Amino acid sequence: MEPQDMALLYDDIDSFVASPASNLELRSLTLRLTQTTLLSHEPQDVETNNLQVEQTLTRLAGAIAPLNRLCAFSLYVPPHNSGHHFEISQTAIASIIESLPQSCVSLEIDTAGLDHATTGPGSGAPIHLCETLRTVLPQMRYARLSLRTMCSSLFGTGAVLPQSDASPYNPITLPNMQGLLVNCKRAWGTAPICAASAQTPAPTPAWDSWDSVTHGLQTLATEPGRVRPTANLCVLTSTPQDNSDKSKYVTLIRADIASQTSHAFPVAFVSRGPTAWLMRTGEGREVISSDTAALVDAAEGQTGWATAGNGLRLPVQLVAKWGLETRESALDDGSVWRASNPRKMHLLWYNEKLCGERLLDGEMRVGKSYLSREPLVERTPAGWQRPDTLLRAQLEPL
Ligand SMILES: [Zn+2]
Repeated sequence: MEPQDMALLYDDIDSFVASPASNLELRSLTLRLTQTTLLSHEPQDVETNNLQVEQTLTRLAGAIAPLNRLCAFSLYVPPHNSGHHFEISQTAIASIIESLPQSCVSLEIDTAGLDHATTGPGSGAPIHLCETLRTVLPQMRYARLSLRTMCSSLFGTGAVLPQSDASPYNPITLPNMQGLLVNCKRAWGTAPICAASAQTPAPTPAWDSWDSVTHGLQTLATEPGRVRPTANLCVLTSTPQDNSDKSKYVTLIRADIASQTSHAFPVAFVSRGPTAWLMRTGEGREVISSDTAALVDAAEGQTGWATAGNGLRLPVQLVAKWGLETRESALDDGSVWRASNPRKMHLLWYNEKLCGERLLDGEMRVGKSYLSREPLVERTPAGWQRPDTLLRAQLEPL
């Protein structure tokens, strides 16, 4: 029988659970979660709805356990989901993770930050999803993780932060891992550290998920025998926007923990109609997209996951290996886009035309500073200045 791949929507879960025999051949399962229909936005209705989602996901967990041919599982909240009342129960996510069969060696959990602790009577002890994930990561070849909060408990126990006086950090072993990506980006910035790992009182600036996850993964990668020498271990985040200095760009940073290098990609908003964002990817290349999620996908690179034409989420490598079609890329080449939209201008392009030099590009950071979250800055060439009155945006001759 042909291997089967399925993208499941929330409303399909009950019929999926009701027909266990027809699911046994499944090779991959993607659960695409979006805000479910609410009776109203009254707190009572929102709470009832979120509780129903929890119960439905828990039933799904029971139906996943017997799928002993399942190679890949993804729980994915598509970007730009208008789910501000939508809370995905961490208890339910934990039951799904705990139900994954031994055959499952690719795992994505991307909640778009919508995972929440279950509160109220009978909800039990709070779940720490990093600890739940730590129990299944050793069986994985590919994993991509993005949760509301994250910390080094994903990869070990002990000191959750660098420079901690507490016990040393004891990493787990990831003998099968080939590609791991932890996406710590939240809006333009970084997701918080988990409450279980946060320091009280919080230092200033407070440690966040990037500090803790990179600390854990770097310790794991530097201890001999913890991971294959060829494994790609990446952590991604974004710098915040700096509205006081327009020469500083929001920068997506992907750190490659094994090689202790990182790639930094500057991003800027170009226009509202058509919606366009630019990103510079290094060596003079520029891409434009109407969708910032496509820029993040590009920044995640080969360690990321792709969406196949039918909504399946799979590691980039598996999509190619299994011969599946991917969705059309939402990226345009910068020069092609600019030729088709000649009236659209960004100050970067204006400044570069003015002085005749390229002023900004993607950057590779090597060695000690590879975990730096310094944003990329538009260069000010010799003979030019940036008057403060224009938020340092526009070049003027000296
Ligand atoms: Zn955690």
